[in-house]
Amino acid sequence: MKIAVFSTQPYDRQFLDAANAAEGHELHYFDMALGLESIALAAGFEAVCIFVNDVADANVLEALRAGGTGLVALRCTGFNNVDLAAASRLGIKVVRVVDYSPYSVAEHAVALLLALNRKTHRAYNRTRDSNFSLDGLMGFDFHGKTAAVVGTGKIGRVFARIMLGFGCEVIGYDPFRSAEFEALGARYAPPGEIGANADIVSLHCPLTAENHHIVNAGTLARMKRGALLVNTSRGGLLDTDAAVQALKSGHLGGLALDVYEQEGDLFFRDLSSTIVTDDVFQRLISFSNVIVTGHQAFFTREAIGTISETTLRSVSEFARKAPLSNEIRLA
Ligand code: NAD
Repeated sequence: MKIAVFSTQPYDRQFLDAANAAEGHELHYFDMALGLESIALAAGFEAVCIFVNDVADANVLEALRAGGTGLVALRCTGFNNVDLAAASRLGIKVVRVVDYSPYSVAEHAVALLLALNRKTHRAYNRTRDSNFSLDGLMGFDFHGKTAAVVGTGKIGRVFARIMLGFGCEVIGYDPFRSAEFEALGARYAPPGEIGANADIVSLHCPLTAENHHIVNAGTLARMKRGALLVNTSRGGLLDTDAAVQALKSGHLGGLALDVYEQEGDLFFRDLSSTIVTDDVFQRLISFSNVIVTGHQAFFTREAIGTISETTLRSVSEFARKAPLSNEIRLA
């Protein structure tokens, strides 16, 4: 099947080409993200393959349908960028990669937390400049502290297991409780207790219409003073302006982000020779207790390999008119 693959980087092409040896599709790669301005590129393709910052809203989906597309294959887990109601109305199937490597994201969240707490990013710069002063680099033991997991799904549970290994008490919040989470030795707690007791809060829930800005000025104010917040999930979960205010007041002890609300204008490209005009982002990265990575939590060999194989297998199922193992259906 002919597939228009949007938002591709060299590593995507390398892994998709390797996975395609077993599937035999015709892959057409585009650097551009899918959106109304690039929609013409998709004309005549029965399947389009997209990533986290491509836009598949109702207008885009209507144009895709008019161009003959019947399948949107997401090379990711989250699907907040696809209008599922419009897809269903138009008869377009949507598949994603449900389970590739929860370890990749959970381990990255922990890497960010450790760096933020022990100021590794600052120490790295200092020692390169022969500055061996420890002033300002003090952290705290994770052992004996309380770590909160918001969203106790696949990634949240791996994160919980790692934090339990440090000797943390792990508490969690999720509207759908998981016996597996509790079996690890973690326990569920109401949002109020998470705010009051957690020294570390890590977000691992999908972005939905209901939880946009789930972390906002109110929730930040209720967090323990000096707590660390890490978001490797989706940018829209955090009200970034409110986070900037909480950092300015010193109430929020540190912030680690792998995702950002406006990341579509920034991430996955080299902007080092241009002027970044996003003032909120610029303010954010000016804090020494903020670490930002550009949506790289998933970026391990194991994860990219599985993403590529699963995506192309889903397209093969669609081509054979077989049931779609990874279809996203409207709730
Ligand atoms: P999952 O479906 O296994 O788990 C998500 C959990 O969140 C579920 O248990 C669900 O009940 C819970 N949830 C839903 N709404 C919630 C809310 N309002 N509050 C608390 N919990 C809520 O998904 P997963 O595989 O663990 O992935 C989680 C998220 O991680 C994805 O949706 C995606 O946004 C993000 N992600 C990021 C990267 C990255 O590279 N940064 C990579 C993969 C996934």
